[in-house]
Amino acid sequence: MPFLRGYRFEYHGADGPIEDLPIPETLCVPMPGAEESYARIAAQGDLVAAGQVLSAPKYAAAAHAPVSGVVEAVEFRQIPGCGHVWAAVLRREGSRAVRTKAVTGGGLEERVLCAAAEAGIVDEITGRPLYQELYRLRRREVSLLLACGIEDDPWCSSARAVLRERLGDVGEGLRLAASFCGAEELGIALSTREEAAAYPGFRVETANAPYPAKAFLLRRLRKSGVSASLIGPQALAALCRAMKGEAQTFGVATVAGDAVRTAKNLRFPAGTSVRELLSRCGLSEDASLVYVGPAAQGSAVTDLDAPVPLHARCVTALLHPQRKRAVACIGCGRCARVCPQGILPWEIHEALRKSSVDPFLLLGVQNCINCAACTAVCPAGLPLSAEVARAAAIRKSGDFF
Ligand code: SF4
Ligand code: SF4
Repeated sequence: MPFLRGYRFEYHGADGPIEDLPIPETLCVPMPGAEESYARIAAQGDLVAAGQVLSAPKYAAAAHAPVSGVVEAVEFRQIPGCGHVWAAVLRREGSRAVRTKAVTGGGLEERVLCAAAEAGIVDEITGRPLYQELYRLRRREVSLLLACGIEDDPWCSSARAVLRERLGDVGEGLRLAASFCGAEELGIALSTREEAAAYPGFRVETANAPYPAKAFLLRRLRKSGVSASLIGPQALAALCRAMKGEAQTFGVATVAGDAVRTAKNLRFPAGTSVRELLSRCGLSEDASLVYVGPAAQGSAVTDLDAPVPLHARCVTALLHPQRKRAVACIGCGRCARVCPQGILPWEIHEALRKSSVDPFLLLGVQNCINCAACTAVCPAGLPLSAEVARAAAIRKSGDFF
C-alpha cells in the first residue's frame, strides 16, 4: 500500500433529494467581470424577463435574470468567494420569460462553445466560466473527461445529489463537452467503489482517497498514462440545457453544519442570499461562523444578506468552530504530510518570515493546487495555503530580495 498524503474529514453531508427553495421576493444577482460599464446590460428601473441577459463581460460568465422583475438597483458589493463585484438587485414581478431557442449554425464544437458562453455557465469545480475551461482542456489534449461526483468535503453533498437526480442531462452535457475537448473517453468520478452501482453503463473512476481526493485521483490516472480532467455535474447539466437555449440561472448547494436543524440540498435562483438558504434549513441563533464554499477552501461570511454564487456547492453554519489562534509553528510536520503535491508548507512559512527569500526554498510552490489541506490541519492556525500562494507569486515575479 503506497503512502498516501491528504486529510480524512468526517462526513456530515445531506443525503436527501434536491429540494426547490421558494423564490425570494428580492434577488441580488452577481455580475462578475462587469467592471466596464458596457458589460452591464441591466440598468436601474429596467423590466426584465426570466432568462434575460443582465451582464455580458468579456472574460467572465454572463449573468441572466432567474425570474422576471424590476431592476431596483445596480450596486457594487462583496460576494462570498468572488470579491467585490457588480450586482443587479431584482424585485420579482410578473412571469415574463425570454423565448428559448436551440443553438443552431456552425459545427457541433462551435455550438457547444457558444452555448456554454451565452448561458453564463460556471464550472463549480474550478469556479471558472465553462467555455474557458473547455478551451483549457482542449489545449491540454485531455483523453478522459469525468463528471465529478467526488465528495471529500465534510459538509458537501450537492455533486452527488445532482448526479443522482439529473443523470440524463449530466451524461448528455458530458458527451457535448468531450466532443469539444476531443476527449475519447467519458466517465464519472466517485469517492468510493460502492457508489458505482448507481451508474450502470458509465465508466467509473473511484478516488478512494482522503481530501483532496480529486487531486489524488487525477495523479493516479496521470501515472497510468491517462490525461484526465474533472468537470462539475451542475455545469454539465447546464450545458445540456444551454444547447436548447436555456441560461444557467439556478444552482444547487448543500446547506449543512451543526448550526442548522436539517441539512438539505437546495436548488436556488441566482441572487439568493445566504440568509434565505440557511433559514430554509433552520438556522440556530447561536451560529458563530458561516462560510460559503467547501470547508477547506470556503469564504467566511459576515453579511448574511450577501448572495450565494451559483457555483458555491455548499453553505455551512457552525456553532463552535475551532478557532485556532495563529501561534508559532510547533514543527509537528502535519502540513507536509497532508500536502498532495509534496510541498513543505512549514518551510515556505519560515522562508517568508525572512527579509530576503532563498529562491531554492520556493522550488515546487507553483505546483500548489490551493486545496488548503495544510491550513486545515495546522494546529498553530497558520494561513499556510495563502502563504504558499504568496510564495508562488514571489517566485513568478522573481522579486526575492
Ligand atoms: S494548499 Fe498547496 S501547499 Fe497546501 S496542502 Fe494544498 S497543495 Fe499543498
Ligand atoms: S502543521 Fe503548522 S505547526 Fe505543524 S509543521 Fe506545519 S506549519 Fe508547523
